[in-house]
Amino acid sequence: EDIRVYEFAEACGKSPADVIKVLFSLGMMVTKNDFLKQDELEILGEEFGISVTVKDALEDVNYEENYDEEIDTSSFVIRPPVVTIMGHVDHGKTSLLDKIRSSKVAAGEAGGITQHISSYTVIKNGQKITFVDTPGHEAFSSMRTRGANVTDIIIIVVAADDGVKTQTEEVISHAKASGCPIIVAMNKMDKETANPDMVKAQMAEKNLTPVDWGGDIEFIPVSARTGDGIEDLLENILIQSELLELKADPTAKAKATVIESSLEKGRGPVANIIVQNGTLRVGDNIVCDTTFGRVKAITNDMGEIVKELGLSETGTVLGLNEVPTTGSSLIAMDSEKEVRDIATTRAEHARAKELSKSTKVSLEEMSGLIAEGKIKQLPVIIKADVGGSLEAIKGSLEKIANDEVKVKVVHSAVGGITESDIVLASASEGCIILGFNVRPTGAVKAKAKADGVEINTYSIIYDLLDDVKDALSGMMSAVI
Ligand code: GDP
Repeated sequence: EDIRVYEFAEACGKSPADVIKVLFSLGMMVTKNDFLKQDELEILGEEFGISVTVKDALEDVNYEENYDEEIDTSSFVIRPPVVTIMGHVDHGKTSLLDKIRSSKVAAGEAGGITQHISSYTVIKNGQKITFVDTPGHEAFSSMRTRGANVTDIIIIVVAADDGVKTQTEEVISHAKASGCPIIVAMNKMDKETANPDMVKAQMAEKNLTPVDWGGDIEFIPVSARTGDGIEDLLENILIQSELLELKADPTAKAKATVIESSLEKGRGPVANIIVQNGTLRVGDNIVCDTTFGRVKAITNDMGEIVKELGLSETGTVLGLNEVPTTGSSLIAMDSEKEVRDIATTRAEHARAKELSKSTKVSLEEMSGLIAEGKIKQLPVIIKADVGGSLEAIKGSLEKIANDEVKVKVVHSAVGGITESDIVLASASEGCIILGFNVRPTGAVKAKAKADGVEINTYSIIYDLLDDVKDALSGMMSAVI
């Protein structure tokens, strides 16, 4: 059973302060309302010379972790690889994704901007390959930190006329950290100024050495414009995939990851998922984070209504009672009661955590107290059209900080900018509202003006981040 600090203190006849002191001395910051973690309980047990037995009441909550063990490996089959393309802005990520798709499926898909995650499966030599688009490498890593390892292979696209740029370097770090095999696509080879040797040399400097230079990274020259090299790229993906021996069980109950989610008019919560194990069918009872429901309808990557999604396939699912978080696992279970119980337990757990978090004093805040008044914060409210972008923006903003100033995300959510956002913003001094691919209505704009709240809207993540960085450096010079 979960136990809070003060409950634990009571149970062993100590004061909450004693418990807090022991943990504090070991660098663990807790308040009396916090739940104790397993390792903290063990430490306390040792420290106080008492025996602490932990009953595993969280078994249900941690269902995903136990889930894998229940899989019967005898019915495993090879599953298609899941590929993510990353690269510096304008190096042709979107064009490449569009070209790969259009070379394999009928046209009609809206090309152009892919700030949000979209995904699809193509067939090459009778074998399937699934591509997952992420709004950026930050979103990719933020999904990974939440345990959602959806990608098997990473393609780093580098424009052959431009070479390695700042975001290419970032992408390389994210890709290496993921441990996935990397393939380099040297794009824009149709251009006269294309210089593949320059790309190879620059990448080799980052320890991504081409196979023809004695290394182990495949460099494939491609052109997203003409389509040259794309078949080569797909073939290389299949070779890498074969080496990985990717396997899963199509007969198991489905386990999928949410790669995008939104609330759609007339459809309700929509989850864009990728199936990692089993088969998801209409009518399945599903739980996803703190949401649950029964699969009402499934559409595949072509937008067609289908009855099921198989291994590594992507599509959208209707039927959850709320919009799930990007990166969370969606799991099919036997009964409605099961999924409802798990979702409810998780929701209670999350609420309790949230409550204890708000009273928590972090180390950063502690040192801030010492510096008294020196810390400056830029409070922001973030609203975005889709969950993936929201996570990416939030993650990046929280990283923008130095000793004197940092961004404080007061509130972030998927959806339009509303009057309640204005109310919230005017409640915290200096708070600005950042909208990504969402705009305020006339009435909301008027209220913002009346209340003196600033609303900035963007359609490019980097523009948003740049503006915030500028704002922060302004605050810094004001301090100095
Ligand atoms: P992203 O920002 O990485 O998604 O890049 P885009 O796909 O939006 O491409 C940026 C620009 O480069 C666009 O104007 C594309 O038309 C152009 N582009 C992309 N691929 C190629 C290519 O293979 N050859 C040429 N000549 N232009 C390309």
